[in-house]
Amino acid sequence: MVLPLFDRSPSGIVFDAVGTLIEPDPSSTIAYRDAARRQGVELDVDLVRDRFYRALAADEVHPPHGPMTTDESFERIRWRRIVAFCLPEIPDLDRAFAELWEHFARPASWRVFHDVDPALRAIKQLGKTIWVGSNFDARLRGVVAGHPVLNEVLDSLVISSEIGFRKPHPGFYLNACRLMALDPGDVLFVGDDLVHDVEGPRRAGLRGGILIDRKRRATDQVTKALNLVELADRIRSRIDHD
Ligand SMILES: [Mg+2]
Repeated sequence: MVLPLFDRSPSGIVFDAVGTLIEPDPSSTIAYRDAARRQGVELDVDLVRDRFYRALAADEVHPPHGPMTTDESFERIRWRRIVAFCLPEIPDLDRAFAELWEHFARPASWRVFHDVDPALRAIKQLGKTIWVGSNFDARLRGVVAGHPVLNEVLDSLVISSEIGFRKPHPGFYLNACRLMALDPGDVLFVGDDLVHDVEGPRRAGLRGGILIDRKRRATDQVTKALNLVELADRIRSRIDHD
């Protein structure tokens, strides 16, 4: 059985960025491996990948103003710590951190998923307000500006380091709704992370959250769509039904 995505059509939709609209290309693991290689250190890709995901899972240790808070300077500290954890063998951590920080700030280091353009157009045509809500930092503004497909959302970004709360803190979602000038009950969240993009928005009182399950890993108990075009189709049929 396919679960209904929502009981009536929302006015606004917030899309997560990384893993939902864009992804690193090459992968983060390869970018980190290459940063080590430039310093003469050859690391196994699987080892770097394992460290990277363990570092991300444990990255909420000492935020400045309590759990799930952040700001721009803390994001630099956080990412420097992640680079240190992933590449302990390298002689010059400052250099690797600076290179990787710049790397992920460049639009060319990211690719936009193929379904983004048709889906955003279709949803826009349905009269929905579209925003992006991300735990990435201010670098996301430059990345979005560098991809014409995303120009639609250039002035509609909610970024955790700018508003002070990281997903899944309720303050993140409620600030997003405030910026959109919409009631939380009228806003749907969409993304590839169950905790950040589905459970967090629901707990904060939003209309709901939908998992974009590109790799078909989620159970049938989760409200999900396999890609953004399917999501757009289901929003359209919901509107037809309302
Ligand atoms: Mg994501």
